[in-house]
Amino acid sequence: MGSRKKVHAFVRVRPTDDFAHEMIKYRDDNKTIDIHLKKDSRRGVVNNQQTDWSFKLDRVLHDASQDLVYETVAKDVVSQALNGFNGTIMCYGQTGAGKTYTMTGATENYKHRGILPRALQQVFKMIEERPTHAITVRVSYLEIYNESLFDLLSTLPYVGPSVTPMTIVENPQGVFIKGLSVHLTSQEEDAFSLLFEGETNRIIASHTMNKNSSRSHCIFTIYVEARSRTLSDEKYVTSKINLVDLAGSERLGKSRSEGRVLKEATYINKSLSFLEQAIIALGDQKRDHIPFRQCKLTHALKDSLGGNCNMVLVTNIYGEAAQLEETLSSLRFASRMKLVTTEPTVNEKYDAERMVKNLEKELALLKQELAIHDSLANRTLVNYDPMDEIQIAEINSQVRRYLEGTLEEIDIINLRQIQEVFNQFRVVLSQQEQEVESTLRRKYTLIDKNDYAAISAVQKAGLVDADGHLVGEPDGQGFGLGVAPFSTKPGKKSKSKKMFKEQLRPSTPPAKPVAFEDFKNERGSEINRIFKENKSILNERRKRASETTQRINAIKREIDMTKEALNLQKSLREKQGEYENKGLMIIDEEEFLLILKLKDLKKQYRTEYQDLRDLRAEIQYCQHLVDQCRHRLLTEFDIWYNESFFVPEDLQMAVKPGGSIRPGMMPLSKIVSLGEDDQDRFSQLQQTTLPEGPDSVSFYNAKVKMEQKHNYLKTMMGLQQAHRK
Ligand code: ADP
Ligand code: MG
Repeated sequence: MGSRKKVHAFVRVRPTDDFAHEMIKYRDDNKTIDIHLKKDSRRGVVNNQQTDWSFKLDRVLHDASQDLVYETVAKDVVSQALNGFNGTIMCYGQTGAGKTYTMTGATENYKHRGILPRALQQVFKMIEERPTHAITVRVSYLEIYNESLFDLLSTLPYVGPSVTPMTIVENPQGVFIKGLSVHLTSQEEDAFSLLFEGETNRIIASHTMNKNSSRSHCIFTIYVEARSRTLSDEKYVTSKINLVDLAGSERLGKSRSEGRVLKEATYINKSLSFLEQAIIALGDQKRDHIPFRQCKLTHALKDSLGGNCNMVLVTNIYGEAAQLEETLSSLRFASRMKLVTTEPTVNEKYDAERMVKNLEKELALLKQELAIHDSLANRTLVNYDPMDEIQIAEINSQVRRYLEGTLEEIDIINLRQIQEVFNQFRVVLSQQEQEVESTLRRKYTLIDKNDYAAISAVQKAGLVDADGHLVGEPDGQGFGLGVAPFSTKPGKKSKSKKMFKEQLRPSTPPAKPVAFEDFKNERGSEINRIFKENKSILNERRKRASETTQRINAIKREIDMTKEALNLQKSLREKQGEYENKGLMIIDEEEFLLILKLKDLKKQYRTEYQDLRDLRAEIQYCQHLVDQCRHRLLTEFDIWYNESFFVPEDLQMAVKPGGSIRPGMMPLSKIVSLGEDDQDRFSQLQQTTLPEGPDSVSFYNAKVKMEQKHNYLKTMMGLQQAHRK
């Protein structure tokens, strides 16, 4: 693999009684063919200076049987295909020189069958010899005639190219013919039937379409795919063997061509000369562009000419003097072909499905490994699977309880859980933000600070200053006007939030932890009872599992110690030379007792281990139940909570525009705490301060606050005195 290799080029001479002995000579190496042309050659066409040529090829096949031709030409290419190497075998030469005889052979005579049926036989024979591999074989048969593509194995009655337009498609895996039927064949016989069908179609087509079969290129392709049966390897190899019977290579002008024949000849000559150009380019290692797309033939064979495949050319020639001109031309083609180097490589592919299966297996193995580590470290059963909805809900509740202060800490279990805890923190945070805002909206009318019209309206009413602070209020605190600060940026919200909190506490429903306790005694009592029961069972099982693990570890330690003691005894015995007596091992009582003990310990170990496994299953089940109960408890609680403490409708009506609470008004609780006098004074202040400008606001704010406090203390003192009396 990976080493460069020359294309193999062979010459096969068609048997004849009229062999031109004086003109065609073979050397003893069986490879070289010498051509000598007399100056006064009959035809006088080749009348230039040169009269002698010598072509050295890989082998000259003269009077060779079909058998020998197959052995020499095709056998290696086919056997390499089963290892994942693409292979191409082409027959080139003038019409009648024996291309079809070499490639297909005589279909009526088994002995004279050609490369094609023999290749199919070899493939199936090799499959039989390789039971460790699952190998599939597919075949297709393509004909290219006048630059049109025909499917010789099409199951439809023969139709013209306009009805079944096939196209040559290139993708990273290679070149394929879109629309060409590819047939799965599970046995030799099926493959033969297809081959014969193709041959018949070829003949029928030549009659019905009035075309000369010697003027078309035929490509029979065997596709092989081999996967190991024993290894669960995701890698597999594919290959294709292209068996190409080219159109006659005779040149135009020899026979007077006219009309249709001329057109055909032009097509053939063009495609063959494009084939030659491609091959010349392939032979030139400095060339990086190969003109494959100039015609259908080279395009269809793009990944099968040169490149990464094993390539073989058979040049069929006549041995008669009359054909010497074409023979010379064919031999030239063959020697150019011999210059081409290829770099055969295995076509390895990856089976995505198997790859996933293998990864799943590995994942399962790693999980088991983790479980063992956990059990050795005496950790209770940790689940590493992705979390389901219930588990996420549980973490959400943990985070809520943690934030509320009812949960001291959140235990770290694994990475996944930590990540989910952070996630849920984010969820809870954004929910709370929304809750706060919506509660505020229910209570107050919020004005957008960027809505200048609204602000100026409020300012005109004398309720806020230019900073959005309520008149008479220091630093915006203490009054419930929900206007966001001008610079509403994330992270700068602290001020307004603080304000919300102080304002909301008196009228908000009871804190959730408190309410939860109530709920558990009321509507949630039954679920809570079941929840507690399941939890106690779970805890009990966990405790037992932990104890069992400890016992297992202890037994394991004892096993190790006993083994060590036994080894010591054994080595002592061996040192004393008492190996055996007439085939019987002599051991002393101490050693015997140790053996018994070890046996007993192992039995205990197994029993305990079985117990542990059962317990783990139970724990998993109980955990699930507990999670379910907790989830229900929390869901029901949320419903109950919302039902019990949802802001009543009349209050919502009150804060709506036109309601009894107007924008900028203080909340009821605050107003109630002010005495009548203070209220009057406050209204006066509102009227008097604004003309003095915003600088005065904080001053008056402070003043009002101080008076408020004073008033409060006075009232409290009065109350206390009244109490004492
Ligand atoms: P091509 O396909 O090159 O046009 P064919 O394979 O059709 O030529 O051969 C023309 C004729 O010559 C056929 O009748 C074929 O049986 C015969 N023929 C060609 N080569 C041989 C050979 N090596 N031995 C016997 N007969 C042959
Ligand atoms: Mg032929």
